[in-house]
Order: sequence, then C-alpha cells, then structure tokens
Amino acid sequence: MLVVMEKNATDSEIRRVIETIEAQGWEAKPIPGGERTAIGILRNETPVDPGLFLNLPGVKEAIPVSKPYKLVSREMHPEDTQIPFGNDGRVVIGDGHLHVIAGPCAIESESQALKTAERVKAAGATFFRGGAFKPRTSPYSFQGLGKQGLKILEKVREETGLFIVTEAIDVESLEMVEESADIIQIGTRNMQNYPLLRRAGQSKRPVLLKRGMWATVEEFLMAAEYIISEGNGSVILCERGIRTFTKHSRNTLDLNAIPFLKRESHLPICVDPSHAAGRRYQVAPLAKAAAVMGIDALLIEVHIAPEQALSDGPQSLTPDDFTALMGDLRSMGLPLPSL
Ligand code: PEP
Ligand code: MN
Repeated sequence: MLVVMEKNATDSEIRRVIETIEAQGWEAKPIPGGERTAIGILRNETPVDPGLFLNLPGVKEAIPVSKPYKLVSREMHPEDTQIPFGNDGRVVIGDGHLHVIAGPCAIESESQALKTAERVKAAGATFFRGGAFKPRTSPYSFQGLGKQGLKILEKVREETGLFIVTEAIDVESLEMVEESADIIQIGTRNMQNYPLLRRAGQSKRPVLLKRGMWATVEEFLMAAEYIISEGNGSVILCERGIRTFTKHSRNTLDLNAIPFLKRESHLPICVDPSHAAGRRYQVAPLAKAAAVMGIDALLIEVHIAPEQALSDGPQSLTPDDFTALMGDLRSMGLPLPSL
C-alpha cells in the first residue's frame, strides 16, 4: 500500500499517517517527491485496508501495491535513482549518461591492471573493473590475488582517477572490498546469497548486483529488495545473460529484461555483454544493442593480452577492440560522459 498525501499536507499530517502505520506493527517508509510525499507500507503480512488512511487529514489516496517487490518498484519511487561518485558528486550513474565500466575479468598484476586502465580511460571509460576475489566454477582455476588485488585497484584509482568496481564473494571479502572500491559487485552466483545481500545493504558503498544466470526478473528485483531493505538504496541492476539451450553463446543476453526493469524499477540499469557472449566477436554488437535501449552503464571485459588471461580471455576485448567500440558508441550519438 502506498499512501499518497495531498500537495499541501503538513508535517503533522504526514506524521499521523506514519503513526497509524506503526501502530499496526508495520514499517512506514516516507518517500518525499517533487510535488507531494507518499508513504510506503512495509512488513505487512496481510493486505492493508485503505479505509485506515482515507479519512485521515491530508491523505489524497491509498493505492494498493500489487508487486512483491516494494522499495525497488516505481510504484513506490517514481523518479529514477541517481548514484553520485567522488567528492564533488559530478559523476552520476542514473543521470541519463551511459557510463562504461571496463577492465579485465581478474586483476593479475600491477602492470596488467595499470596498462589496461590507461587504455580504457583514454577510450572514455569512467569506471575500472577487475576481480580480486574470483568465484570460479573450478576450484583449480585462478582464484584472484585477494587483498593484494585490492591494493592494485587502489593504485589504479590513484593514478588514473577511474572509479573502481570489484566483486565481493562473501561477507569477509565484502568487508575488504568496501574499504577499497567505489562499487561493490555481487556476482551472478551470489544473487540469492541472502546473508551477503543483507550485509551489502548495510554498506555505505553502492552495489552492482548481477542477475543470477538462472533467475527470473522478479527474483532479481527481490534480491535488490534485500539490499535496499537494509538501508542501502544505491543499487545498480546488471543484466549479464541467462542460461538457455543455445550453444552459440555462453549465455543469452536478455534484452527484454531492460524495458521491463526500466518500467518496474527506478534503479539504474547496467548491461554486461561480455559474460552473456563468452565470445569476443559477439560483445560489441550486444553492447550497441543494449546501449540504444537507454541503459545507464555497460560493463565490458578488456585485457591487454586476452590469449594470456587467467580468466575469461575468450570474451575479453583487446584495448584496440574496446577503443573501436567506444568510437562507434560515440558516433551513434550515445551520451558517454567524461571524467
Ligand atoms: C565477472 O564480472 O567477472 C563475473 C564473474 O561475472 P558474473 O558474476 O556475471 O559471472
Ligand atoms: Mn569475468
């Protein structure tokens, strides 16, 4: 239920609605808007009777919210969420620009990270990505440099000014990642790791939440709801491909999810064509297709020598491929920001 206040409702009228909600043992979530305030009702286990509110002074209407996800939904929060970065807050994800997050799958060494970062920055990326903690399908594959990888990422930020995105694979790594990174990534395999989602919801850092490779869009939104319900409203939804029956790509990029998520949720949307494709030649066409749908960010894997990469080499672009893709996005008129 969303209780919508009249334009001229007073603070005490708003307070009275909140008290009425709390008296039922529910949680009230005031959502101040440009014109009027709305108050969401959370933690009700049975449907709410609108009659509880309709006679209170200052109440315009009480709208039933039909969806299981609430805090992530546009019904509760009509305006797009904007997430600012840096001291001056000049770089914003969700303000209509198309940010590009680029870098290797894994941080392998300082020189690999710095060389890649210089190239992706020169091409127009605003965020650098790279895993220090890697959730690998095989326990024998490279698992990442851990804390040393985070130190390298800090150096990349210092030397280039790029903002940093890196993955946390459990609560322990999240506590290290939130000290070093500008965005905490939660990967596809952890989309339904509820203790991790809750801990990310207590962090001050924005979270890039990847869609589970098996998850429906509703389950994806419910995972974001876990994070926001703990108090962290800075969540970016990342579509990265889902498992289907195809063999011509690693996953299938669910482009249909983009208009659905934009309609249902106010959260910024990122698309990762690299993990969807799994093959280099498919990455740029998928990136362009997603970009024209009006997303907020693209996440692209780039490696200085993909044939030597310790993970995801076959889908990584070379710096030259990446530069060409950025040139194409620019000539398509897409709103790429600068740092
Ligand atoms: C990654 O970004 O390198 C990664 C492991 O992504 P995903 O969780 O989407 O597989
Ligand atoms: Mn990867």
